[in-house]
Amino acid sequence: MQTSPNKKQLVIGNWKMNGSSAANAGLLRSLLPVISSLEGVEVALCPPFPYLSTVADLLDDSDVALGAQNLSTELTGAYTGEVGGTMLRDIGCRFVLVGHSERRALYGEDDACVAKKFATALQAGLIPVLCVGETLVQRQSGETQAIVTAQLNAVLNAVGFNDLVKGVIAYEPVWAIGTGETATPEQAQAVHRHIRQWLASQHRAAAADCRILYGGSVKADNAEQLFSQPDIDGGLIGGASLDAMSFAAICSAAQVKPTS
Ligand code: PEP
Repeated sequence: MQTSPNKKQLVIGNWKMNGSSAANAGLLRSLLPVISSLEGVEVALCPPFPYLSTVADLLDDSDVALGAQNLSTELTGAYTGEVGGTMLRDIGCRFVLVGHSERRALYGEDDACVAKKFATALQAGLIPVLCVGETLVQRQSGETQAIVTAQLNAVLNAVGFNDLVKGVIAYEPVWAIGTGETATPEQAQAVHRHIRQWLASQHRAAAADCRILYGGSVKADNAEQLFSQPDIDGGLIGGASLDAMSFAAICSAAQVKPTS
C-alpha cells in the first residue's frame, strides 16, 4: 500500500508569527515568478491572520493557495479574539492547519480540541491539515506509532473515516520542528507507512489517495530525498518558507515523484 501515483504532491509554507506587509510583498515578489513554472506540485501559504487578505490579493493571479494557521473550535458567535472557519473561507482560504505541535504544547490544545477544530474546518468548507507527531522522549521510549495513532484516532472518532480523509495529514515529529534536526528519510518513511497502513485498515483506496506530508526542518538540501519516499506526498515547511529561494527549491523538489 503506497501513495496513489495520480495524486499531486503538496507543499505548504507555514510562516508562523513572522512577516510584515513589506516583507510579505517582497517575499512573494521573489517567490511567485519562480514557482509559477512548476508542474505537478500544489503550493499553499499560511501567513498570520492579519496578512491573510493582503496575501490573498497578492496570490490572486497565481495557482498558489491560501491557508490559515489556526481557527476557532466554533463557527461564529461571542468568542472574543477568535477567528472562525467561515471567515477564513470568506476571505479565500482553502487550507487550515489543525493541531500544530506549537498549538498543542504552548496553547494547551488537546486531542478533543484538535478534533473539534478539524470538524469545524470541514463544516466551513476548508481543508484541514491535521498535524501529528511525537516528542523526543516519546520516540526514545518507542511510543512514536502509538502517539501518532492516538492523535489520528481522536479525529477519526469525532468525524468518521469519510471526513477524516477529506483533510490532509502532516507527520511532524516535534523534535524536528524548528530545531534544524530532520528525521532521516527512512525514519520519516517508516511513520508515513504506518499512517498509510492505519488508513488502509479502514479503506484501502481512500488510504492511497490521502496526502500525508512530512514537516520538521525540511530544507532545500534535504527535501528531494524526503519527498522521494514512497509514502511522503509533500511537506509542511516552517522556517525555510520565509526565504523565497529556499522555499522555491523545496517546491521544485516535490515536482517529480518517481513512480514505484
Ligand atoms: C512547522 O512549523 O510546521 C515546521 C515544520 O517548521 P520547521 O520547518 O521550521 O521545522
